[in-house]
Amino acid sequence: MTVTPAPLTSPVQFFDTRGNVTEPYSFTEALVAGLAPGGGLFIPTELPHFTVEEIVDLARLPYHKRAAAVYKAFAIDLPDEQIDELMALCYGDNFNDEDICPISSLDENTHILELWHGPTSAFKDMALQCLPRFFSASAAALRERGKLDNTFCILVATSGDTGKAALEGFKGVDGVSIGVLFPDGGVSDIQRKQMVTTTGDNVQVWAVRGNFDDCQTGVKRTFADSQFTDELMAERKVALSSANSINWGRLMPQIVYYISSYAQLVADGKLEAGQPLDVCVPTGNFGNILACWYAKHMGTPIGLLMCASNENRVLTDFINTGTYDISEREFVLTPSPSMDILVSSNLERQLFELTGRDSKAIAAWMQSLNENRSFQVDRDTFAKLREDFAAESVNNQECLDTIHEVFDAHGYLMDPHTAVAYAAAERLRSENPVLVASTAHWAKFGNNVYRALFDIAPDAPLPPEIAALTGCQLNALIADETGCFYVPENLAMLDEMPVRFTEVIDADVPSIEKATQAFLDTQTL
Ligand SMILES: *Cc1c(COP(=O)(O)O)cnc(C)c1O
Repeated sequence: MTVTPAPLTSPVQFFDTRGNVTEPYSFTEALVAGLAPGGGLFIPTELPHFTVEEIVDLARLPYHKRAAAVYKAFAIDLPDEQIDELMALCYGDNFNDEDICPISSLDENTHILELWHGPTSAFKDMALQCLPRFFSASAAALRERGKLDNTFCILVATSGDTGKAALEGFKGVDGVSIGVLFPDGGVSDIQRKQMVTTTGDNVQVWAVRGNFDDCQTGVKRTFADSQFTDELMAERKVALSSANSINWGRLMPQIVYYISSYAQLVADGKLEAGQPLDVCVPTGNFGNILACWYAKHMGTPIGLLMCASNENRVLTDFINTGTYDISEREFVLTPSPSMDILVSSNLERQLFELTGRDSKAIAAWMQSLNENRSFQVDRDTFAKLREDFAAESVNNQECLDTIHEVFDAHGYLMDPHTAVAYAAAERLRSENPVLVASTAHWAKFGNNVYRALFDIAPDAPLPPEIAALTGCQLNALIADETGCFYVPENLAMLDEMPVRFTEVIDADVPSIEKATQAFLDTQTL
């Protein structure tokens, strides 16, 4: 017998964290809009609820059907058959493991959720293989309903991982073009090659003279230039859009893997149905751990949510004190760059939920963050936060030591982001089994994995003969030295792939707009 989770009785609707949305948005509308009017984030009015039996029963299904079951439970405004078809494309042979995100158990109570088997070997694929297809389907549905008559150009500023995952996700998707800007000289050899060798007709990549901040500021100002955006709409019927992690369409696929992992651990006999599972997540923008919170509050028996930070420990301090303060915090470069963040955009959603959906409180805190670079939550909200969360930060040396120790003890090689989570989990763990979210394949960060294995300090230079290697050559060497590790083909082949994009542009708005126009001239959307 199969137990299908009961869907919400009416299709899910969305309002926002700052109280500006008066007419609720449907799923397709919220996805296409991305950010709510007034700068708040979309939140579903209601969450579907799963019983433990329903969750455990999902293990019978292949991953794409588990994902479809969760989407259907939200009763989103797309037909069930279309959800099935899209999910089969999102989570199929574009992943190099048929379980999509398999779990490796280091011991009876320590399980590693490998979220990096997708086309770019980073966990962003879990969301970015899904969002673009649902974005395109949502836009098409809205066009059919007479609510939309334009296509989209996605612009993404990236410090490394997101850009490639967005390119792979949006490439070949109908009604969308995508342009990615990365800081020239500011990303690793592997990351740059991943981007500039991207195939597909609707993609473009620019190196930008400047750092990541310059890229991001340039893109934000381009979005805000209404003369430019009006012109694109009038002359091309193209709207600019972003694919960043505040889009609900990126969060929802992440809820799926926590529900699915619970089911899998029970099916594999590693967990009793109903037994609490603690989860530790290496956290940057708070998207991944927030998805876990939603999974818990939709019925998954998750115990403690452990938030792991690197030396940029603003979230750890917040969870331990109730004060979010970046007024005197310096931004630090670490071996886990995807967690080098000062303002965690998805935290706003979490606070909204913890306050019992109090948009006035959120608006005030966000204003305080803007004006004073800090805010402090009230006692009730802090108590709620502490019911679900614990937090630890891990310094750069501890991160590399962890990679080395886990390799020696278990023969398992971790990337630096995963190592931060593993070390935090070791300090925070209770009697419950722990699931550690592993967010990147080690070969994306070969330099620091090499430092870890050969006991080179985090900020020390690599020996000249190692520094002279390409990213691919270094990974091959690490795979050789450690003996038992594969480098995914998409990373191993990069030196042989033809470079398609060599243009370098300035970070100012006119340069970005000119480049965007030239790109759109090549596109028939
Ligand atoms: C983006 C990213 C993170 C942080 O995830 P958030 O959802 O932003 O908290 C952690 N690790 C890796 C490898 C990432 O790419």
